[in-house]
Amino acid sequence: MRILIVDDEQFNRMLLQQILKDLGDCDLTVDGREAVEAFILAHEEGNPYHLVLLDIMMPDMNGQDALKSIRSYERERGVDEAKQAVIIMVTALDTEAQVVEAFFRGRCTDYITKPVNQVQLFNKLKEYHLLPTAEASSAG
Ligand SMILES: [Mg+2]
Repeated sequence: MRILIVDDEQFNRMLLQQILKDLGDCDLTVDGREAVEAFILAHEEGNPYHLVLLDIMMPDMNGQDALKSIRSYERERGVDEAKQAVIIMVTALDTEAQVVEAFFRGRCTDYITKPVNQVQLFNKLKEYHLLPTAEASSAG
């Protein structure tokens, strides 16, 4: 699968890449604007992202605005809801306001809180069927 990692801090990008690298091809971007550009480009190339890890606090365009841009792009393109990217917000601020904004106004798929760890993230990916099952991974 194709994965887009978006965070303004290099440490966080590297951490997510380390956790996710065996699950697919990871691209890294440093702010919301780059993320939206990469998302659109991938879609236009016919090789869209299946999973987006999106930091909320970033300079220039933040994660909430990038989320809204990505979802509105998918809507404009008539992407079926079942085929939309799984977008997981990554936030240090687990506040009600941020969560409400991301889920109800932005329509993110889910969110995780920093510090990110593999168990927490893999549990989320399991929910969205983005983690190979035990049988599949032992078979191949
Ligand atoms: Mg940040």
